Parts: sequence; structure tokens; C-alpha cells
Amino acid sequence: MNVSTAQVNSNEINLINDIEKTELHYGIKDGRVVHVESVTNGLDCECSCPHCGSQLIAKKGNVRVHHFAHYNAIDCEHGAETAIHLMAKQIIADRKAVQLPATYFHKMDLDTNVHPHHVNEFIPTKLAMFESVEEEPVMEGYRPDLTALDLEGEWLDIEIKVTHEVDDVKAKDQIDRQRNMLEINLSQVSRTLPYKELEEVVLYSAPRHFIYYQEHYELTLALEEELEEKITYVNNLIHNAKPKTNSGLTAKCDEAVMLIGYKIGSGFSTKQQSDFKIAHLFYVKPVQSKDTANFSIHSSRGFEVDQVDVKETLSSKLEGLDFPVEVKLQYEPKPGFGRRTKWLVSDITVINI
Ligand SMILES: [Zn+2]
Repeated sequence: MNVSTAQVNSNEINLINDIEKTELHYGIKDGRVVHVESVTNGLDCECSCPHCGSQLIAKKGNVRVHHFAHYNAIDCEHGAETAIHLMAKQIIADRKAVQLPATYFHKMDLDTNVHPHHVNEFIPTKLAMFESVEEEPVMEGYRPDLTALDLEGEWLDIEIKVTHEVDDVKAKDQIDRQRNMLEINLSQVSRTLPYKELEEVVLYSAPRHFIYYQEHYELTLALEEELEEKITYVNNLIHNAKPKTNSGLTAKCDEAVMLIGYKIGSGFSTKQQSDFKIAHLFYVKPVQSKDTANFSIHSSRGFEVDQVDVKETLSSKLEGLDFPVEVKLQYEPKPGFGRRTKWLVSDITVINI
């Protein structure tokens, strides 16, 4: 069985083409990350580099875009990306909220390409609100960027991806400890995004997906179960709907079908200038795939109506039925068709559920 889930990000995000830009727009002041626009010009900004800790000078002139430069040091390579990482953590800690991703679950049975079955479920996006958020908490065996306690009392670890994503080993550990974890991907976000835009991106629109999420894990199991049930159910129906013949000599029997009606009548056809009789049962069966030399029909689900001839002597029995009704049909060969046996319903047994 193939199992797949895709996490959906419906919002367009600001994919910026200046990722390579290392210009520093955020610095550290009094232990907090601040944007260059919120500080005084020059050394009076009292800021340090988020990465190397060097003293910064705010350059807010009229020519270039306002930015920070290292004072008495070479601008370090990773200042801007570290700044974004720290800023993202600070934003979530300040705002105590984060948008959770919409997730599409799809499970499909690929064991047979004749009758593929699938189930799916869509979980829409929602805003998680937190009672508390802690940055870089020391946990047993790991240290997430953030851990948050939501208003329902559930814990959520949050990882911010700027250059390093949660790798497979870390992801497996998180699944093993059954601890909810969200990863927010800022790798494609400009390092020089103004504060308001960065806030919007971090809280709502940047791509994000769950490394582990209990509710989704349980839904996945439920969908797997639903798919199994569906496969069993449909396979049984298909199995039962197939004529059971033994070298064409013994009658079909025990076919369980949903009977939806019948027509029994006789009369004289002026057109044909002869007596006629009709005796048909109508029942529902699964849509079936067919292959011949000339065509092939593939189907995956649903039902179609079929009809079969019935002995007129069953007329009174049929009159007493409350349609639709699940019955077992018994057959006998229809007389007069030579080698190609045609079948006639000879008896009906109502299945009591
Ligand atoms: Zn630096």
C-alpha cells in the first residue's frame, strides 16, 4: 500500500531574489533583535552583530539602503542569516501564535491497477495560539528553536529553517518521542526583509510542515484502516458479483446482490405477431473493469445496474419484498441455449442483516 501525505501551503510567499545578499539589516540591542530603522544612526545605535558579536554601526544615509556595518571589523558572512533566524524566534515568542499548515492526506492501494482504491482527507490551516513560548529550551536529548504550550495545553516544538533543516535522524527522534514539531522554512526569504513583512512571513505565509503532529498521525492510521475496510468491502462485492460456474455444468449460486426491482409480465405483441413474456430482476453491482481485444474499461469505484432473467414462478415472492433489499440469488441454466449457458434466477433468499 502506498501512503502519501502532502503538506499544503496555500499562501504565496515573498520569494526574494536577493537571498545571496548578506547586507545586515538586523542587529542585537539589549538582548533583542532590532531592525536598523528602529535605532539611532551611527555608533549610537548600540548594536552588536547577531552572529559574531562585534560592535555595529548603523548606516542611515541618503544614498544606500539603511543597514548595519561591522565597526572596526570585516563584515562577517553569516550575520544576516543568523539575524533572520533569531528574529523569527523572537517574533513567535512575542506574538505567541503561528499559523499551522493545511495538510492533504491521500492513501491509495496500488496493489492492483485494475481496481485502485483511495481515500483522502483535507485538514485546513489554522492559527495556533500559545500560552507560553520558550526559546532554545533544554529538553531531554535535543534543543528545539522554540517550544510552545498552546491554549489547549498541547506542546509544539518549532524549528526555523534558514540554512539547516530538520534532518531525517532528528525527525525520527521526534516521531519516536511523539512530540509535535513544526518546521518553518525561511531559506528562500530575503535576509533584508523589513520587520512587518518578515513578521507576516514568519507567522503566516512561509512554507511550513509538520515533522510530527499527533492529530495527523492518528488521522493517517484511521485513513489506513478506512482504506483496508474499503478494499475488503469492494473486493467482497466484486467477488460475489462474479458468476460462479463449475465447467458451466453446475448452476451459479449464492450471489449476494442489492435487488432494486423487477418486471414480470406477458402479453401479445402486435408488431411481432406473437406472445411475449418478460421476467427481469434489476440489481446493483460494482462497476467492473473489462478487457477485450477491442476495448478496455477501467473502473475504480461505484456501482452499476444490471439485469438478469428470473423464473416467472417467483412473481409472488417478489411482490412481498420491500425494495431495495439484499438477497442471494440462485441460478439454473436457461433451457435452449446450447453450449453457451445462459442463466435464470431460480430462487431468491433475503439476507437478514
Ligand atoms: Zn558579525
